[in-house]
Amino acid sequence: MLVKHKKSIWYEFYVIDIAKGLFITMRNMLFAPNVTIEYPEVRRNYSDRFRGMHYIKSVNGVENCTACMLCPTVCPAECIHIEAGERPDKEKYPVKFEVDLLRCCFCGMCEEACPKDAIKLSNIYEMSVSQRTVYDKSYLAEQRGNK
Ligand code: SF4
Ligand code: SF4
Repeated sequence: MLVKHKKSIWYEFYVIDIAKGLFITMRNMLFAPNVTIEYPEVRRNYSDRFRGMHYIKSVNGVENCTACMLCPTVCPAECIHIEAGERPDKEKYPVKFEVDLLRCCFCGMCEEACPKDAIKLSNIYEMSVSQRTVYDKSYLAEQRGNK
């Protein structure tokens, strides 16, 4: 037999539940520590292991890269394009070095594979653009983040 319990008006209109919810909201608003930051005035410090914008390391304006083609070979997204050239001292260098960031999945395999420690991923994470951008050698050489 179905027994119907008569509920009080407080339960009928969820007054107690609404009051409980409001209490939790007010408690979090007034006493809980903030978990958000006021970007862009405040910027989050990411771990050193964060992988952001690529950069090419150089010494005295000469990039470390010897155009060995290891990084475009290991890149799963095929987003690194290099054209190799030769300096007068027979050392190879990248005439063209481009990274298509829209294809990149920031896996870091290029950084791992590089024998010359030339291509690195910085902790720059502000990379939004309004049109497709392929970053070239001169641009990549300027990007260091705080690494
Ligand atoms: S981080 Fe990964 S996907 Fe991006 S360029 Fe390097 S190897 Fe390719
Ligand atoms: S692996 Fe390093 S040295 Fe080789 S082409 Fe890539 S950046 Fe240059």
